[in-house]
Amino acid sequence: MDFNGINFGTYFKHYPDANGYFGKYGGAYVSPELQEAMKEISAAYQTICKSSKFIAELRKIRREFQGRPTPISYLERLSNHIGTGVQLYVKREDLNHTGAHKLNHCMGEALLAKYMGKKKVIAETGAGQHGVALATAAAYFGLECDIYMGAVDIKKQAPNVARMKILGARVIEVTEGLQTLKEAVDAAFDAYCKEYKDAIYCIGSVLGPHPFPTMVRDFQSVVGIEAREQFVGMTGELPDAVVACVGGGSNAMGMFSGFLNDPVDIYGVEPLGRGPKLGDHAASLKYGEPGIMHGFSTIMLKDENGEPAPVYSVASGLDYPASGPEHCFLHDIGRVKYDVVNDEETIDAFFTLSRLEGIIPAIESAHAVAYGMKLAKTMGKGSVLICLSGRGDKDMDYIIEKYGIR
Ligand SMILES: *Cc1c(COP(=O)(O)O)cnc(C)c1O
Repeated sequence: MDFNGINFGTYFKHYPDANGYFGKYGGAYVSPELQEAMKEISAAYQTICKSSKFIAELRKIRREFQGRPTPISYLERLSNHIGTGVQLYVKREDLNHTGAHKLNHCMGEALLAKYMGKKKVIAETGAGQHGVALATAAAYFGLECDIYMGAVDIKKQAPNVARMKILGARVIEVTEGLQTLKEAVDAAFDAYCKEYKDAIYCIGSVLGPHPFPTMVRDFQSVVGIEAREQFVGMTGELPDAVVACVGGGSNAMGMFSGFLNDPVDIYGVEPLGRGPKLGDHAASLKYGEPGIMHGFSTIMLKDENGEPAPVYSVASGLDYPASGPEHCFLHDIGRVKYDVVNDEETIDAFFTLSRLEGIIPAIESAHAVAYGMKLAKTMGKGSVLICLSGRGDKDMDYIIEKYGIR
């Protein structure tokens, strides 16, 4: 399918280019030392990802350890509740082991580490979800695992800190600056600079310097490939629209990659939080501007000094001031439409999906559900497939404390 001069039939051959660019976004803006490390990972990945042994091992892990394929569920009661005749479906990444899509790329990254002969995986974590997924993968492969985490986040996310430790990871407290995600990223990168001979850095989304956005997309593409086949098998046709939430953009990129070459409308949903004022949301594609952060060229929210702006979302997994470079590209050419929902709409969708369907979504995923419901109200007929990126167990305490039971 051609779209604005881009042939999506051959898209994956040409994007990213050899230097990791999706149009003007992506690349690797890192120190000369890290350039070398990135090149090593890139070269290893290019070879290993094509080896039949690697592919067979990853398939076996997905089937026997992760619980893939995850099903698609038809949301009959929610569809009737909306009442426009539009049929809503969810791809159940909440049923993936550890409760979200993140394990898809963590198992891939850790398997790559094993094939590269590395002994350790290193990462940062904010709310702890990426840390738990990576600690799980490291335990599975018998790799050491160092997770860098801001002191403030360590206090806030005690259950996830405990999970990581039980899984055998070392949680390293970062006490610089605001002591949250940004400082944790810096500390993890510093550590990786020193240890890259024995370790590999495992990023948590389709972010960072090349080759991470491509690798993570490829590992997540299982979501979209499965979903397309399952949906056609269930209904005999393609969905009219596909929806996913976008933090860094890994669950969305996985889902979208299955449908880019189809006559399907694709929607990425960013968190509008408390509203459109800078600091009250994390909708970087809607309100941001081109810039460079964390080693890649992107569209980001900037403060008055041009630094990454403070961001907010009710979903801690979505509060990142930029988006993956491929999303920036798909945004600019118009293949994917990026839109926003606020906290209130998200929390409504959280309770509605729980009550009507018996599925408690992660607050991140509830953004996609909220948007899918809005879309269904405007469409009149057809079908909407929503990526349910994770389950809401991790959010129970927060929901009860902040919103009570509705
Ligand atoms: C981390 C997380 C997200 C956001 O990450 P993306 O890279 O944008 O997918 C979304 N949903 C859940 C459940 C998460 O844990």
